[in-house]
Amino acid sequence: MNFSLTAEQQQHVDDAREFALREVAPYAEKWDVDEHIPRAQIQKYADAGYLGMTIPTEYGGQGLSALDAVLVIEEIARHCGISGRLIVDHNFGAAITILNFGTEEQRQRVLPTICTGATLMSIGMTEPEAGSALTDLTTTATEDGDAYILNGKKHWITGAGEREYTLVYARFNDVPGPKGIGAILVHMDMDGFNYAGRIPSLGVRGVQEGILEFENMRVPKENLVVPPGSAFGNLMSAYNGQRVGASAVALGIAQGAFDFAKDYADNREQFGKRITDFQAMQFKLADMVIELDAARFLIYRAACNAKNAITDRYESSVAKVYAAEMAVRVTSEAIQLCGAQGYGRNLPVARMFRDARCFTLAGGSAEIQRIGIATKILGRSIPQH
Ligand SMILES: Cc1cc2nc3c(=O)[nH]c(=O)nc-3n(C[C@H](O)[C@H](O)[C@H](O)COP(=O)(O)OP(=O)(O)OC[C@H]3O[C@@H](n4cnc5c(N)ncnc54)[C@H](O)[C@@H]3O)c2cc1C
Repeated sequence: MNFSLTAEQQQHVDDAREFALREVAPYAEKWDVDEHIPRAQIQKYADAGYLGMTIPTEYGGQGLSALDAVLVIEEIARHCGISGRLIVDHNFGAAITILNFGTEEQRQRVLPTICTGATLMSIGMTEPEAGSALTDLTTTATEDGDAYILNGKKHWITGAGEREYTLVYARFNDVPGPKGIGAILVHMDMDGFNYAGRIPSLGVRGVQEGILEFENMRVPKENLVVPPGSAFGNLMSAYNGQRVGASAVALGIAQGAFDFAKDYADNREQFGKRITDFQAMQFKLADMVIELDAARFLIYRAACNAKNAITDRYESSVAKVYAAEMAVRVTSEAIQLCGAQGYGRNLPVARMFRDARCFTLAGGSAEIQRIGIATKILGRSIPQH
């Protein structure tokens, strides 16, 4: 066990820090107000090699480790949570599902386009009546000659209407529960693909959450990424990395809020003293740092033990629950340290607080992660309904 970064890892951190200060920090507030991050900005992430860091070089990526990616994501998210989330989506999640479980033809066709930024990816799991109970999903993929006919509706899909590809989780047969579920890749240009609008949200506003509908959409069989059967476990295991990536965004946001609040409080005086001279405020800062460090170690553990950017389920869930809840506490305390100014929209901590709030839900709720953790420690699965 070694708690130091290698020289190469430290270089990734330094480069990402410098990039974030120059290319991300000055614009983060604007993207929040505009509720939009321009595609030209996303292209900068691709050009810097940040989309596809975990993709092997033979498919156009950087061939870096999950930990390398997490280190970069943390630095970017210190200034802009939505940019962090966007980079996560193109280093874990759908891209990693294709890398590990897709066909060689899919890897060669799709992954290089993700790394160059030519195409972006979403994951379409959640449905209006199937959120935590994902295996209740009702979107169907019915075999028809050389294609599957897709019918159904997904909501809360990050990047809906803006990203070319969506990896859609669907029911391929009448087998109930997880065994009938597989995943198929759809392109927004296919007939029957309908972007049905945006869902306004509390935070992470620069990347939209939206609704997708599929009506008799003919998807070629070569787009089947994970067939039904016992493969639902593969889909979920590929998603564990996404949780660790999301945890790194939560950590970055919280670190950014801490950094800002510490400087602010150190420079503001009341009662003739700096805010940081009051012990009550010093204890706040100390508690925030303890929480940041604890989250960081849990995230790095999960990332270090990853294979092909697939992380262990237990380690991912532990990191995700702690980091997500920590980020809410730390960003809230950052507002407290800045007083009313922190609550106002002129300082970034209010945005960071709103952005941090999504992680106990997005990527699987904290409660569902706790159920997974309990399953592991009790050595048995507990029926939820
Ligand atoms: C910002 C954001 C981005 C998202 N992006 C995507 C995306 O890109 N793709 C995608 O497919 N989905 C996405 N989601 C959806 C996300 O995966 C779901 O919100 C999540 O799985 C929870 O489902 P739900 O919202 O339907 O809540 P519900 O399932 O309705 O749950 C409501 C509450 O009850 C709790 N609960 C439910 N069941 C249990 C139980 N058995 N025991 C204890 N508590 C329980 C939940 O934890 C939650 O607190 C996103 C969500 C957000 C907020």
